Amino acid sequence: MTGWVTVAGLGPGADTLVTPEVSAALSEATDIVGYIPYVARIAPRPGLVLHPSDNRVELDRAHAALDMAADGRRVVVVSSGDPGVFAMASALFEALEARPGQHPDIRILPGITAMLAAAARAGAPLGHDFCAINLSDNLKPFEVIEQRLRLAARADFAMAFYNPRSASRPRGFARVLQILREECGPERLVIFARAVSTADEAIRTVTLAEATPEMADMRTVVLIGNSQTRRVGNWVYTPRRAGAV
Ligand code: SAH
Repeated sequence: MTGWVTVAGLGPGADTLVTPEVSAALSEATDIVGYIPYVARIAPRPGLVLHPSDNRVELDRAHAALDMAADGRRVVVVSSGDPGVFAMASALFEALEARPGQHPDIRILPGITAMLAAAARAGAPLGHDFCAINLSDNLKPFEVIEQRLRLAARADFAMAFYNPRSASRPRGFARVLQILREECGPERLVIFARAVSTADEAIRTVTLAEATPEMADMRTVVLIGNSQTRRVGNWVYTPRRAGAV
């Protein structure tokens, strides 16, 4: 049997947002590898071995997947959202780079990333140029986050923030909001989109002046508009045109 590794995005939560291509890969798999809550989304079936693992062991997980594929297993590494957005696809290639010799067949299957699911719920806040920033300082110093925030704000990008706030980083997001107030002023619209497409979904739009750190947790993606982002009825959208910065 020829083994392979597929890195698949499960989307933001709802089964209806899993792509048919990902469903097909899951149905061919012998093994599912991933972070515990993501593996928990896979229905068990005879012949399928689930390998849930803890957070922050991405490289071990990637090596385990490559080892199993070398033994002829058909391995799907699952991520939430899209596997290329702050997720397992890069970890797999980091592991691959460190391994001499033959590589198994590898496929990366896209999924609907949190910021796009959240933006669709709110209206079209990412309707013009935007960027995505991971606010976790596990893998980069906070100074890098601060510099990217300030430069993106000055370039008038709308922004999406992943991993905004966790128990191990209670103060970072308060600092992020402070930096954004300095750069964007108090009226800028901010969307807190929590657990999008799940039963716990909650979407809340406020101004930067009203935004507090407690509005975000690790199940929240935070979107901030550009200088033109506005409300129309209950929706928030960013026009397709930009003037001078
Ligand atoms: N690969 C994932 C992101 C992993 S990082 C993707 O493409 O979506 C984990 C972060 O993603 C969370 O801290 C949160 O900011 C965001 N996130 C993931 N699923 C979400 C959801 N259903 N609703 C809101 N934010 C979500």
